[in-house]
Amino acid sequence: MQIVRCVSCEGYGWFEDEFSGEPVDCDWCGGTGYVYRDARGVDRKIPEADYGKVAAQLEQLEAERLRQMGYSGQARHPDEQPIRRQDTGSDDESAP
Ligand SMILES: [Zn+2]
Repeated sequence: MQIVRCVSCEGYGWFEDEFSGEPVDCDWCGGTGYVYRDARGVDRKIPEADYGKVAAQLEQLEAERLRQMGYSGQARHPDEQPIRRQDTGSDDESAP
């Protein structure tokens, strides 16, 4: 059984409700962002009972998705985070 990104929410696992603006879990994948695809190409929800079994695979798919979105997949060193550079009291917003 293949695991593929949920076509409905594109791996996010949730939608923003168009009326309330609140995040709601995707019905199609149950909020995981991924679904099983069988040999006939039919997608279906991953049963909760299988989450433990597929956790590692989902993690890998998620890392791949984030990488495609432009993340390096590595945590930034705290000193490289812009928030840490704002402790001088200056409000220089023109800095890159
Ligand atoms: Zn979904």
